[in-house]
Amino acid sequence: MTKFLRWQNKPATGLRRRKRYSDICNEERFEEENQMAKIQMTTPLVEMDGDEMTRVLWQWIKDILLTPYVDLKTEYYDLGLEYREKTKDQVTVDSANATRKYGVAVKCATITPNAARMPEYNLSQMWKSPNGTIRAILDGTVFRTPILVKGVEPYIPTWTAPITIARHAYGDVYKNTEMKVKQGSKAELVVTDAEGKETRELIFNFEDTDGIIQGLHNKNNSIAGFARACFNYGLDLHQDVWFATKDTISKKYDHTFKDIFQEIFDKEYKEKFEAAGIEYFYTLIDDAVARVIRSHGGYIWACKNYDGDVMSDMVSTAYGSLAMMTSVLVSPDGIYEYEAAHGTVQRHYYKYLKGEETSTNSVATIFAWSGALRKRGELDKLPELVDFADKLEKATIQTIEDGVMTGDLYLISKLENKQKVNSKEFLEAIQARLAKLMA
Ligand code: NAP
Ligand code: MG
Repeated sequence: MTKFLRWQNKPATGLRRRKRYSDICNEERFEEENQMAKIQMTTPLVEMDGDEMTRVLWQWIKDILLTPYVDLKTEYYDLGLEYREKTKDQVTVDSANATRKYGVAVKCATITPNAARMPEYNLSQMWKSPNGTIRAILDGTVFRTPILVKGVEPYIPTWTAPITIARHAYGDVYKNTEMKVKQGSKAELVVTDAEGKETRELIFNFEDTDGIIQGLHNKNNSIAGFARACFNYGLDLHQDVWFATKDTISKKYDHTFKDIFQEIFDKEYKEKFEAAGIEYFYTLIDDAVARVIRSHGGYIWACKNYDGDVMSDMVSTAYGSLAMMTSVLVSPDGIYEYEAAHGTVQRHYYKYLKGEETSTNSVATIFAWSGALRKRGELDKLPELVDFADKLEKATIQTIEDGVMTGDLYLISKLENKQKVNSKEFLEAIQARLAKLMA
């Protein structure tokens, strides 16, 4: 049926007059032109929706900041706990495989179920952390970077540029075997090789007391993947890469980390780093800590699993707020998944459900979107999309530096004319600035 016939057949209802045919044509043309003006994408972005307050913010960010400018092309996966339960967590695996296929994903914070969540969501199983599942499938390294704004000063005043922490997410004490040992026991390390031959090393002879022992391991291919992810990310960000272990004390375990990093750097990255004007720097972990404190920031600090666990909390606290920390999972073969470092902000969500006002900070989630869109734009050679990502970040930072901020930042900002706004007002304030930048 032609458009004209459709219009003719449509009855006028109640008091509303039937729209004139020319009105409909005008509306459609306006829609089309608007659509034309939107930035187009070529490859879909893998979109992983999540839970609670961040799920609410997710939709608002899309409606208020993204879809007015970008003709968003995403492959949508609902990682909200209800749908994970419904699919027996298959949706998480599917979303990770889609990320493998397309190369870039953006993820909303998700609930990792604990005992309290079992009755709340009527769960049949305590599903594993989605981040753990995705990380295992992508074999990735997590990079966390703080977002700096004027008015929120780091506790270390010299840190004027962000320090990105890269944490090796495999092995060591997180996959250990440990035992309590009775007095009179002798503890040994025993390795049985493929031919059945045993090699033994004494750990300790517990002659005069009870004690404890611990067995750790790591895998050379995992360490190599970690090294490559760090070097690639250094090239991506145009920043130096620092790495540190305790190789003087741990002459085989930690030394192997040092050797693998150096070998991969020399063989695969040395020339690329020289061309980019950046450096790889290795030192002892205690020396690294001292240098980090004295530094200005602006580099990637690669950490073994335990160091990364501890140091990332120190660094994020020192920069001011967990709500201003972005996180990206990078696989050794160059697959990227962007997210906020914080959780689902449960306490705010319960307030929201009661109809109370919330002032939840959406900055890290906005930066997850801008990071993913920028990467998609770079890979697909879409300068307009890269430019949009830059402007979205600029508008966000400008809003806070103009004094408009959510409650968490209001408490710590040193700006004189600051104003606390609610979750939605904050996004609208960003939109007002973004509209000017996009005009
Ligand atoms: P959280 O969601 O990070 O929130 C902890 C507290 O930090 C909040 O109550 C809030 O403090 C403050 N906060 C965090 N993000 C904020 C933001 N964007 N704006 C304002 N304040 C913010 O951690 P949680 O409450 O311990 O965990 C909630 C759920 O998130 C859990 O189910 C956990 O499994 C999940 N989680 C998911 C991820 C992930 O998907 N990557 C990471 C961590 C946790 P006030 O209440 O004082 O305002
Ligand atoms: Mg920690």
